[in-house]
Amino acid sequence: PGPEISASEKSEKTAQWVRADRDRLMHPNLPDSRTERTVMVEGRGCHVRDSSGRKYLDAAAVLGVMQVGHGRSEIVEAATAQMSSLECFHIWETMSNDKAIELAVRVTGLAPPGLERAYFTSGGAEGNEIALRMARYFHYRREQPERTWILSRKSAYHGIGYGSGSVSGLPVYHQGFGPVMPDVHHLTAPDPYHAEAYGGEDVTEFCLRELRETIERIGPERIAAMIGEPVMSVGGAVIPPPDYWPRVAELLRSHGILLIFDEVVTGYGRTGRWFAAEHFGVTPDIMVTAKGITSGYVPHGAVLVSDEVAATVTGSTGFPIGFTYTGHPTACAVALANLDIIEGENLLENAVKTGGYLADRLAPLRDLPAVGDVRQIGLMLGVELVADKTARTQLPTGAAPVVQALREDEGIIVRGNPRSLLINPPLVLDRGAADQLADGLFSVLERVGTDGRVRP
Ligand code: PLP
Repeated sequence: PGPEISASEKSEKTAQWVRADRDRLMHPNLPDSRTERTVMVEGRGCHVRDSSGRKYLDAAAVLGVMQVGHGRSEIVEAATAQMSSLECFHIWETMSNDKAIELAVRVTGLAPPGLERAYFTSGGAEGNEIALRMARYFHYRREQPERTWILSRKSAYHGIGYGSGSVSGLPVYHQGFGPVMPDVHHLTAPDPYHAEAYGGEDVTEFCLRELRETIERIGPERIAAMIGEPVMSVGGAVIPPPDYWPRVAELLRSHGILLIFDEVVTGYGRTGRWFAAEHFGVTPDIMVTAKGITSGYVPHGAVLVSDEVAATVTGSTGFPIGFTYTGHPTACAVALANLDIIEGENLLENAVKTGGYLADRLAPLRDLPAVGDVRQIGLMLGVELVADKTARTQLPTGAAPVVQALREDEGIIVRGNPRSLLINPPLVLDRGAADQLADGLFSVLERVGTDGRVRP
């Protein structure tokens, strides 16, 4: 700890930061340039503290990254040791480095059998860019260059690169940014809570029929891959029916279409398994991971692929694309220390246990007028907010006023989308913090009106 700062110095510093933030820093997402933002300065375990000294429960795990909790000295030590020996090197052409090799062995050992090779990136969008390119290049190398189409799903979020943004199924990532990547089609995603959207048909049957018809219309010989989050994250922790992915995977395989799982949020224990693919008994051809691989201590990601995909895209001339930071040794050392903690502290088991406890505590939220659905898988939770429980219509304000009231009134940070609260606490969440979260949610959600406002 540094020297004590007096309360008046703290508030003066905060005021300076808020002004400089408003004038100099560009932020994603919030429109109002006059907004006074909360300036975070430190974190320990499941909590963070802002520049005024206020403590918050970080029930968003930053942005779904923080598996092992804030302030872990083991990770700091691993990064320091690596930076002291070899802070940075590349793995292009004839070069490699020890930490990239160690991490490749480690993550392919954790992945579902069949994913034997790792390609490192610095984050989720980069991983999806690589996955999309790999899928097209795989068919190109197999002399089927006409296989360029990518199937994705509405409401999906895959990042904001050109390809990853194009396959994302939210219009805000397309409008105003010029032409999107060609040869992309968005299918309907399964959402069991909104059965009314499937015209009375079983949700899986509807999605499978649409997929079959789409493959026929485009032509299987023109389709490279389908990409999907096994459990939709930004979409609101939307868990598909258990038969959806196995049947999708079987249909794609019968047409030689690759399956890409985006496990950027769900990977490394978030759902109580190493990867969400395990819940569905499906091994994709390409699996994109990031966030939890380092708990966000430094940016990193890994695209895990089958030997067949790796060998085909590499061919006799090599896979021609890579990033400067592909295989960055400090990022890899941090990932290894992070995975040690996840394993050593049985955090997958904690995600199952504490996630289950939280789900039990939150189940009665469904009796509140503003709550339509509560979804949970491990420590990935979604609370769907409704204006009308029968019609399942969304609140006119979306979740924003609830997110704000949770932060301001209860000191709890979660995220929201137009329909749902997105709750992804660190995997080290204990009963005490789970109770704080549940109590805070009750206290705010029982004050939400049909107009979406939170009563004082
Ligand atoms: N894929 C999913 C499912 C995500 O939720 C995100 C980010 O939230 C991404 C990809 C993009 O990852 P990044 O922001 O690291 O590029």
